[in-house]
Amino acid sequence: MTMNDKVKVDTPEQAEFRAYCREWLSENRPAPFTGQMRTTNHPRRNTLEYHRWLQDWQKAAYDAGLVGCDYPKEYGGGGRTDCQRIANQEMVRAKTPMLIGKQGLSLVSPTLIDCGSEFLKTRFIPKALSGEEIWCQGFSEPNAGSDVANQETFAEKKGDHFVINGQKVWTSLWDYSDWMILLTRTDRSHKHNGLTYFCVPVEPELGKSMELRPLINVVGGADFAEEFFKDLTIHEKYVIDGVGKGWSVALTTLKHERGQGQFVEPVAGGMSTATKVESDADKGAKVTSPLVALARKTIRGGKPAADDPVIRDQIMQQIIREKGFDESNRRSAVKGLIDHPMRIPMQFKLVNSEIAQEQAALAVDIEGISASLRNSANPSPAGSSWGNAYIGSFGMTIAAGTSEILRNQLGERVLNLPKSK
Ligand SMILES: Cc1cc2nc3c(=O)[nH]c(=O)nc-3n(C[C@H](O)[C@H](O)[C@H](O)COP(=O)(O)OP(=O)(O)OC[C@H]3O[C@@H](n4cnc5c(N)ncnc54)[C@H](O)[C@@H]3O)c2cc1C
Repeated sequence: MTMNDKVKVDTPEQAEFRAYCREWLSENRPAPFTGQMRTTNHPRRNTLEYHRWLQDWQKAAYDAGLVGCDYPKEYGGGGRTDCQRIANQEMVRAKTPMLIGKQGLSLVSPTLIDCGSEFLKTRFIPKALSGEEIWCQGFSEPNAGSDVANQETFAEKKGDHFVINGQKVWTSLWDYSDWMILLTRTDRSHKHNGLTYFCVPVEPELGKSMELRPLINVVGGADFAEEFFKDLTIHEKYVIDGVGKGWSVALTTLKHERGQGQFVEPVAGGMSTATKVESDADKGAKVTSPLVALARKTIRGGKPAADDPVIRDQIMQQIIREKGFDESNRRSAVKGLIDHPMRIPMQFKLVNSEIAQEQAALAVDIEGISASLRNSANPSPAGSSWGNAYIGSFGMTIAAGTSEILRNQLGERVLNLPKSK
């Protein structure tokens, strides 16, 4: 989702496309997966069977024109204008399965459109959009997180190839990845101008020149991995935008990752998770906030939590904050109200992730002790989703730039405050 998702009115063409999406989804939304979803050794690691099922769903949605619809036709897109957000709303409304090729959609395709050679664009974008090839992101290292330019993984040029050695960490969605976008150093004498950005294959290199170790997170899931590169050899045609240009390509990726780019990321989901989009049943009851719904059905001291004036006030504060966020985003569509082009885009990821964290914290508070019954057979009132959302929210305020880093950037680039040390 990007900033303007909730605030635009459909043009006639968009209304027609929305009707098409709705009809297609009513006939083609798959039935929930009935096989084994998670591997037995890691409770949150997908089985290959489930992974393939999710890939098949992304391919079907892509073939129907619901994924990548705003990308140019020559790179496998639908050639439409401002239609992805409509497809997204309809997919979420229909509670479809998630799109498993997230990194290919949110990072790789837009980065290649902006910076990739013709070879890279035609080779990779269509299969990233369709989900036939799954991508992961190799930026972070033990000494290069917030300071992402501090790369030590080294790519040495040998003829028309590069030989890569080093280590990456915190790689999300590494499971069954086919390709990785990889930031490396090619020149130790220049911090920023000594970086080079590659597309590298994962699957054929595993156990040969790439060792991959899952990292277990706070809830016992293997959501991350770290990778060790030992002489991984890659042809120079897989460099994005030239040797020494890696820093500007990385900034392009981060721009898209933080929701500041020109493309709306294809997103779907809701088949197995709580969603903020109103269902038809919700609309009848005029329930717009999941916190209101939760407070109505959670019984505390023999009464619904919604009867507690303190809880009511806290929910109202959250609704006001969310409304303020939406209204602020509406401003970005009005040229006369924009004094700095990055003022609102640079707040998007920061504020969005913090609102999500505050709301999850309040929901856990409403649920009380039962919120700790996450993933149990007898879960909390909202089926353990809020407990998981609260724990997961901390990752969201770190990934793609921590809140502290984003505040520094806003201060320096928008408010013209002195640079931080
Ligand atoms: C859910 C999740 C998914 C991720 N997925 C990926 C992925 O797929 N690929 C990938 O490459 N990486 C991934 N990461 C890693 C992520 O990019 C880094 O965690 C992030 O950039 C922060 O780096 P760090 O963890 O090294 O923390 P550090 O940079 O060491 O920061 C530690 C603390 O110091 C603060 N800090 C650091 N520098 C400053 C400063 N100049 N001013 C003020 N405060 C500062 C930070 O805000 C933070 O609180 C993921 C992380 C998470 C949580």
